[in-house]
Amino acid sequence: MESSKVFSEIERLKTDMTNVSMELIRIPAIAPENGGDGESKRAEKLVQILNDVGFDKIERHDATDERVPSKKRPNIIAHFLGERTHEKLWIVTHMDIVPPGEESLWTVTKPFEPIVKDGRIFGRGSEDDLQSMVASIFAVKALKNLKITPKRTVSLCFVADEEQGSTYGIKHLIKKHLFKPEDLVVVPDGGRGDGSFIENAEKSILWLKMRTVGKQTHASRPGDGLNASRVAMQYALALDKILHKKYPAKDNSFDPPVSTFEPTKREKNVDAVNIVPGDDINHFDLRILPQYDAEEALGIIRSVAKEFENKTGARIEVEILQETIAPKPTDPKARVVVMLKDAIRKSLNVRAKVGGIGGGTCAAYFRQGGIPAVVWSTVDEVAHQPNEYSRIENLVSDAKVFANLAIQP
Ligand SMILES: [Zn+2]
Repeated sequence: MESSKVFSEIERLKTDMTNVSMELIRIPAIAPENGGDGESKRAEKLVQILNDVGFDKIERHDATDERVPSKKRPNIIAHFLGERTHEKLWIVTHMDIVPPGEESLWTVTKPFEPIVKDGRIFGRGSEDDLQSMVASIFAVKALKNLKITPKRTVSLCFVADEEQGSTYGIKHLIKKHLFKPEDLVVVPDGGRGDGSFIENAEKSILWLKMRTVGKQTHASRPGDGLNASRVAMQYALALDKILHKKYPAKDNSFDPPVSTFEPTKREKNVDAVNIVPGDDINHFDLRILPQYDAEEALGIIRSVAKEFENKTGARIEVEILQETIAPKPTDPKARVVVMLKDAIRKSLNVRAKVGGIGGGTCAAYFRQGGIPAVVWSTVDEVAHQPNEYSRIENLVSDAKVFANLAIQP
């Protein structure tokens, strides 16, 4: 009864949600690494919106960053007190966006001039992560309009720096011990179009750069040099074989269900066909199921490099470009998972499946800290693409599920 009233109130707020999304898209929040001035301007607008909704308490936990004009990266927490104030439902969304990329590919509208077309809001950041951010605010607004006190305190958390590694965002907040293992933590930053996927785990990620150094010479007299390209290819193929053999496990809760070991980027070596390369650089992208020790895999990669060095006389340098060790997955029976499943069923009439993905979100840092967290939202996954959009329908769906989580007994 109560939830159907909440759902119709959220439907009624559809136009307001759309307008707020568009207002926020017009204020870019790009990291200094990508030539932007950070999230401060967007945060100012956001605080204004939160004040209008009338949250009980708004906190700031800004991180100092000398690289941006405001010298700080904003992090905002807005609390809406529930019947049980000690119990918290956190909804964590990020304010920062990735740059628009090649502007000519934005054919529907310019990245920061949002428009509504075919029930979708177009603009950079519309889906990632403004859709869920706005939905979380309006879930609270709907409850306030109906004078409903949630069962638990709803704490909305708006963070900086998610796209560049979260040092000035969620990592900064987790260090302050604001979150507790018994809290419910939802990170709406990924999912499926029908809301049927709850992410509780991810793979470890390793990005490696391998440089092989031999000796350059003329291709007619290869014996005078040492072909770095050949050694690099042999080493890459050997690794490919060894890693797949050593880590064959299948876990069907992941998509794809296996660890992946892909040789990817190769850098240009010599300018002419008749030169034996003395220097060769290639890369690997490895995504390893959490049941395996990624550090051990790295050890194998280094020892195989040593073997090839001894065998060929070439030098092989292995450099780590990115290393994210997967934390222990959130238990599929954890309270947050069970409650979220229930909220999705009641709000959208969808039975959600729990599983893992290959990439990282803020949820990984919670899990590292022993706090169960899940990733969920209803998205078409057009994040980081030109003509990024969010469906207004999805804004409504996300808001319904968040409100339902707040009022569930
Ligand atoms: Zn995101």
